[in-house]
Amino acid sequence: MASDNRRIVLAARPKGKPTDSDFRLETGPVPEPGPGQALLRTLFLSLDPYMRGRMSDAKSYAAPVAVDGVMEAEVVAQVAASRVDGLNEGDIVLSRSGWQDYALTDGKGARKVDTGELPLSTALGVLGMPGMTAYTGLLTIGKPKPGETIVVAAASGPVGATVGQIGKVKGCRVVGIAGSAEKCAFVKDELGFDAAVDHRSPTFAEELADAVPDGIDVYFENVGGKVFEAVLPLLNPFARIPVCGLVAQYNATEFPGAVPVPVLMRQALSKRLHIQGFLVFDFNAQEDDFRRDVGQWVREGKIRYREDVVDGLENAPRAFQGLLEGKNFGKLVIRVADRT
Ligand code: NDP
Repeated sequence: MASDNRRIVLAARPKGKPTDSDFRLETGPVPEPGPGQALLRTLFLSLDPYMRGRMSDAKSYAAPVAVDGVMEAEVVAQVAASRVDGLNEGDIVLSRSGWQDYALTDGKGARKVDTGELPLSTALGVLGMPGMTAYTGLLTIGKPKPGETIVVAAASGPVGATVGQIGKVKGCRVVGIAGSAEKCAFVKDELGFDAAVDHRSPTFAEELADAVPDGIDVYFENVGGKVFEAVLPLLNPFARIPVCGLVAQYNATEFPGAVPVPVLMRQALSKRLHIQGFLVFDFNAQEDDFRRDVGQWVREGKIRYREDVVDGLENAPRAFQGLLEGKNFGKLVIRVADRT
C-alpha cells in the first residue's frame, strides 16, 4: 500500500470559470482504519457538472465544499483494509470519498457494486447517477409517447446520451444537440438518434427548427442559455420540460441568453407547458426499476455509452475545467489506480 494519500482541495471559490489556482494538491499520510472503519482506495473518480455548484457558497440545495476541504465526488473504490462487518478486503464499492487516493468509511455510505462484464467505471456513468438521472427525469416528467419528438442537449454526455436512447426504446423521434461535428456524428451514427445539431453553428436555431418538423413534445433541459432560447418557440402545446441541468450558466457571471420572464410565462400559459425541475435523489424509490431496465437495455445493445477516461488524480482539476466547456467527449472519469 502507498504511504501517502494525495487529495485535491478547494483552494479558493472560483469567480466565473474555475482556474488551476482554485485547486490545491496536498499530500498526507494514509489514514488508519479504527474499530468499525474500513479504508477505501479510489479506483475511478467521477467528475460531474454539479461540482461547480459545490465550489460556490451561493444558497443551493446542497452544502458547499469548505475552502481547504477535499473536493466532493462519488468514486468506485476497493476496500484496502476493513474493520467493518460485511465489508471485506478487495470488495468493490461506490462511496462519496471525494478527490483523493484513500478515505475511511464506517460502511454506511459504501455500497457494493457489481457491473458484471461491463467496466467498473460504468457504475459512475450509464449504470450510475447520470444514467438514473436520464431514466427518471425522462420517464417520470417527460412522459414520452411513441411518435413524439424529444430534444436533448449535451447529447454525447452520460445523461443526454442515455435520455436519447431511452427515447428511441420508447418509439420517439430523438434529436440531440452537441458541441462539435464529431460529437454530432457520434450521437447520430453510433447512438442512433434521428438527427443531431451543433449548438456552435452560426445557424443553430434554423438547423434545430429543420430537425423538428413536427415541433418538440419533450425537451430534456441540460444546458439552458441560447439552446433554450432556440427550443422555446418550437415547443408543442402540452410539451414537457424536465429541467435537469443548466450547464451553460454554471460558470456565468451574468446570465447567457435572455428569454424575458414575461415571454416565457406567455409561452407557458398559451402552450400549457409542463416545466419541472428535479434532482435525481427525488426519485430514489425508482432505483430498482432503473437498474433492471437500463441494465437490460445496455446488455441488449439498445443503450450504448462512451467514456472519457483521464489518467491520474493530479489531472482532475484540468479535466473538470474542460467539462464545463465541452472538452470531454463522453462520461468523464479519472482513473486513479488499478484494481488489485
Ligand atoms: P456531460 O458529460 O454531458 O458534460 C457537460 C456537457 O455540457 C459538455 O460536454 C458540453 O457538451 C455541454 N456544455 C457545456 N457548456 C455548454 C454550453 N455553454 N452550451 C451548451 N452545452 C454546453 O454532463 P452530464 O451528462 O454529466 O450532465 C448533463 C447535465 O445534467 C448537466 O447540466 C448536469 O448538471 C445535469 N445533471 C443533473 C442532475 C440532477 O439531479 N438534476 C444529475 C446529473 C446531471 P457539448 O460539447 O456537446 O456542448
